[in-house]
Amino acid sequence: MRKNIILQFVVMVLILAIAITALSLYNLRHIGIKSAIHNAQAISEVVKSGLTSHMLNNNMHQVDTFIESVSNMNNVKNIWLVRGEPVDKQFGRVDKTKLPKDALDKSVLLTGKMAHKIEETFTTTSVRVTIPYNAVAVKNIDCLKCHDVDPGETLGAVSLELDISALKQIGIESIYIITLVVLFAIFIIIFLSKRILQPYIELFDKFSININNAVQGKFKRINIPTSGISKDMLNLTEEYNKLMVNFKDTSIDIEKKLHGFIGYQAGKEGNDPLNESKEIIDNLSNLYQFKKEIELDDSRDEIYQRLSQVFSNKFNLKAFNFIEIEMLKNKMTTVIQKGDFFCCSKTMKETPDLCRSARTKNDVVSMDFHNTCPYFEKKDLFYYCTNISISKNINLIINFVFEKKNELEKLKSQITFIKSYINEAAPSLEVKLLMKALQESAFTDGLTGLYNRKFLEEHTKKLIPHAKREELNIGVLMLDMDHFKAVNDEYGHDIGDKVLKELATILDETVRESDLVIRYGGEEFIVLLVGVKNENDALHVANKISKKVRENEIDVYAGAKLKKTVSIGLSMFPQDSSSFNSVIKNADIALYEAKSTGRDKVVRFKEEQVSSVDLF
Ligand code: GH3
Ligand code: MG
Ligand code: MG
Repeated sequence: MRKNIILQFVVMVLILAIAITALSLYNLRHIGIKSAIHNAQAISEVVKSGLTSHMLNNNMHQVDTFIESVSNMNNVKNIWLVRGEPVDKQFGRVDKTKLPKDALDKSVLLTGKMAHKIEETFTTTSVRVTIPYNAVAVKNIDCLKCHDVDPGETLGAVSLELDISALKQIGIESIYIITLVVLFAIFIIIFLSKRILQPYIELFDKFSININNAVQGKFKRINIPTSGISKDMLNLTEEYNKLMVNFKDTSIDIEKKLHGFIGYQAGKEGNDPLNESKEIIDNLSNLYQFKKEIELDDSRDEIYQRLSQVFSNKFNLKAFNFIEIEMLKNKMTTVIQKGDFFCCSKTMKETPDLCRSARTKNDVVSMDFHNTCPYFEKKDLFYYCTNISISKNINLIINFVFEKKNELEKLKSQITFIKSYINEAAPSLEVKLLMKALQESAFTDGLTGLYNRKFLEEHTKKLIPHAKREELNIGVLMLDMDHFKAVNDEYGHDIGDKVLKELATILDETVRESDLVIRYGGEEFIVLLVGVKNENDALHVANKISKKVRENEIDVYAGAKLKKTVSIGLSMFPQDSSSFNSVIKNADIALYEAKSTGRDKVVRFKEEQVSSVDLF
């Protein structure tokens, strides 16, 4: 890091030094050439005046001496005169030394314009300049007086070679000086970098390691250097440390709190707490969503289905069973079966209170060498049973089944989270259960446990259209106990109630499960024989009831027995009327007929009975 910075500085200084050197050398050379040309022009003016005066004084034989003296001037390496063609023509060629010496001379004589060129070696530089003398005719100087030429024509030129090597020398010296300065600067940079940059570079390295750690969720402080760092940098580092401490404390705090919510396995070494927190919050939000959804669910079954979907989709569980156990009723119902593993033994199905999880209200898990639940039949499979009390009498057992042990281990690691879903569902399940019970109590008779008249009214709304669609017959038996009032009068109401309950049991046991037994009022009952073949079959059932009641002995008090009879009126739907209410009314008429013709009998409704009833 430090080497890099120093190298960059050195390269920058070198580039700057080279640029400055190149610029100053270029300037030096340019100025040197410019001033050489300027000098040449000045010398040419002197030479021109000298020549003119030599000419006017008829002293041309001393021109060379004059030129010689000029050539002694500083920096003048060489000087010579060149004659133009018009002069040669007028005066004839007298001096061969005045011929153009090089291409520069020739071109100047031709163009009449000053020209120059640079000649240089590594150590020397000279400027070759040729300046023309063009004929002029002004007040003081009138070349045309002596020369037979037109104005502007080139009479000749003066050529000079000026040495500006001294300037080059200065340039070379300045290169040495700049190099020395640069070397000194580099030395200073290296020296200062050690003293000044080093603490910053070390701090920077610490920052970069620390930020890398923070990205991976490891929030640590940076050790603040004791010296060599500016106040601003110290403040910045302190602020950074505060931020890291804050991050660490907050993420640990979030983790702890969320951990409590859903039992997430937090704080594992090397885990990123921020990422974990995000994951936990996502899970909590899903859980909240789940809770909202089940609140809107209509029935226990819908909630079971939703819970089952969560197990399958979110936790990827392949085999599980939801089993409702009603201990008091000795009843076990499988409400959800996912996968092909229902392994509770037949014994347990017959005696559900053998279920260890329901009995202990604890989780029951298969162990390596221990037969935790003796009623789990497949010994090569693994299981995890958990109990949820959804009401005082009903336990929901969720039985997870696995083929591999590692699947069970995975479930164990997730069980708290899974249970948080179950716990969210439990109150809703209880509410649904209570609602169902409430609904049932509104439709059942408290004394006998049979359906009541209200239920009949509600139920027939569905039953009758169904029977019409399926073309089912319904036999309607209207029953009334004979001389029941006398029971109350003689034995009291409790025995009266007992007689009614026993009648209800006989009715319930005699008819099929698909038939309906209803306590219609007082000691009147209706039996609906749903799907009965014909009236003969209905009559047969009615007689069976009649016989059973007649033969039934009721214990009234110590040793004493009571026997009772019933009268039954039978009417058939839809044979007697397409209106079900009329069919009930008809059964009642037939019952009246049975009563009035001696009781303890079954009477089939006939149209003519209607007129006889009307008499009363
Ligand atoms: P019948 O042979 O004409 O039917 O004579 P009955 O005495 O059975 O008829 P009645 O309608 O005069 O008497 C019915 C009695 O049933 C009157 C009422 O007090 C009694 N009763 C109605 N509901 C109950 C009940 O829930 N418990 C008891 N113990 N008695 C009831
Ligand atoms: Mg009655
Ligand atoms: Mg009666």
